[in-house]
Amino acid sequence: MQSRLLLLALLAAVPAKAGDSAPSQRVLSAGGNSLHVEVVETTDPVRIDELQRWLAEAAGATLTAFGRYPLADATVRITQIDSDDESPVPWGQTQRGDDVSVLLFVRRDADLAQLRADWTAVHELSHLFHPYLGREGRWLAEGLASYYQNVLRARAGLLAPEAAWRELDAGFSRGQREHSGMPLDGLGRRGTMRVYWAGAAFWLEVDLALRREHHSSLDQVLSKYSRCCLRGTGEVAPEAFMAKLDELAGAAVFLPAYKRYAQSREFPSLETAYSALGIERGAGGLVYSDRAEARKLRAAIMRPHAQR
Ligand SMILES: [Zn+2]
Repeated sequence: MQSRLLLLALLAAVPAKAGDSAPSQRVLSAGGNSLHVEVVETTDPVRIDELQRWLAEAAGATLTAFGRYPLADATVRITQIDSDDESPVPWGQTQRGDDVSVLLFVRRDADLAQLRADWTAVHELSHLFHPYLGREGRWLAEGLASYYQNVLRARAGLLAPEAAWRELDAGFSRGQREHSGMPLDGLGRRGTMRVYWAGAAFWLEVDLALRREHHSSLDQVLSKYSRCCLRGTGEVAPEAFMAKLDELAGAAVFLPAYKRYAQSREFPSLETAYSALGIERGAGGLVYSDRAEARKLRAAIMRPHAQR
């Protein structure tokens, strides 16, 4: 009883900082935009702190795009679950109602190292860079998150650049193995791997075009979109989104590629992209060219933010 009283006295003595919320809720701010991070249904302060640190690091990775969270305000809700799933984060989802929430379901027994090595949090947070694009634009949405989940983690030092290229290439290979002959924008729930990875190939292609031909980058164009136009809720037609990105880029890059991809019945060719990047598929894995231009391009995409 005495020790309990002592504990209560100690707890009461912990000074509360002005504006402090409950420890399970934290606000991350960058460039005037905020992410409200809540760990729900968990009482262990050590675990709450661990989950908050994990999320802060993943959120930090998304800042390597343009230094702000894309939306003025969004919520991240972390819930622990019991699961036999191999993944430390068996499920993630971006919910768009009156506001935007990223929901992450974390395996109760996943440790911090496992969580840091997982891609789900950065993938879900990357969905905040685009508006809701409806069913027709699902491949664009999942493609952007699949591209950025690797690029942003590499830049933040959560993944070695070579590992990021390997992950992207492995995803492209999974997409290439699906031969339904259906157009990309009509795949629906079938052809999931093609939806995700043909989508990622689209964003890689436009990123390369912006960098090589227009002195710009996907990061720069999405930064402008975030300032002028991005809303977390409400639907934007994929073509309208593409047209706006072209307008902001000052070039016809997005819409022509979008039309080509949306109607395609096969996985897009990676030949031009890989040749520009100096990447080849070898028997023992990816082989990288030493050509200065290719090296520069690869580094520009994956270079850790601290080295920019
Ligand atoms: Zn997704």
